Amino acid sequence: MASKTYPGRCLISKNDTTKRKAKTEILRALKEERAEEKTPQSWLVLFNGSGMPEFWIYLLVDKKATLEDVDRKLRDVWLECCGHLSSFTIAGREYESNPEGSYHEDAKGMDIRVDKIFCENLTGEHIYDYGSSTYLDFKVISKLPYSTKKGYDVEIVARNKMPEAVCSVCGKEATIICLECMYDGSDEYLFCDECYEDHECDEGMQLPVVNSPRCGVCGYEGGLDDDMC
Ligand SMILES: [Zn+2]
Ligand SMILES: [Zn+2]
Ligand SMILES: [Zn+2]
Repeated sequence: MASKTYPGRCLISKNDTTKRKAKTEILRALKEERAEEKTPQSWLVLFNGSGMPEFWIYLLVDKKATLEDVDRKLRDVWLECCGHLSSFTIAGREYESNPEGSYHEDAKGMDIRVDKIFCENLTGEHIYDYGSSTYLDFKVISKLPYSTKKGYDVEIVARNKMPEAVCSVCGKEATIICLECMYDGSDEYLFCDECYEDHECDEGMQLPVVNSPRCGVCGYEGGLDDDMC
């Protein structure tokens, strides 16, 4: 059986890659472009949209960074719409963005260093917004002797390319989601700019098509471009 490939780009080398091949390309690019330190400096971590494998990012996380720093990067690139709560679940423990207001009696905050928690092959989950939730899962790939780029404690070193979305009228690239049609359960809720002009629904009920597992959810309008990762 042919397995699916999920195309993307290494943001260090700018080379095209796939989710499966990205690790090799990232290691090659780091070796070529950054000084190798004597001791491990960072963690390489893969995040996926849960049930949405076409959305993936590889993060390089400085060993001194905290879960809060990782959460902020996830919000910046994929999640933030209106300041919802979020949490990590790692090895049965919850780490929450607002532990004081938590239902879990033993909830921890996110101000904890990743070095205290991460180890190779560790897996976990992240949830943003307890209402209209976006679920991510992650795996810690390895600890590396390379630093993150200057000024970044969490750096996105590879990410998926925008998955294909086509206009339900003309088949060109879709740019707009009609929420009215989507909430009505119609399959035809994606439009290009041109076809959306002739579409009858309320113009206030639209969101842009963006490269994120939160596309079309709540008021999400998109996050970081590749050159800001
Ligand atoms: Zn929101
Ligand atoms: Zn169209
Ligand atoms: Zn509509």
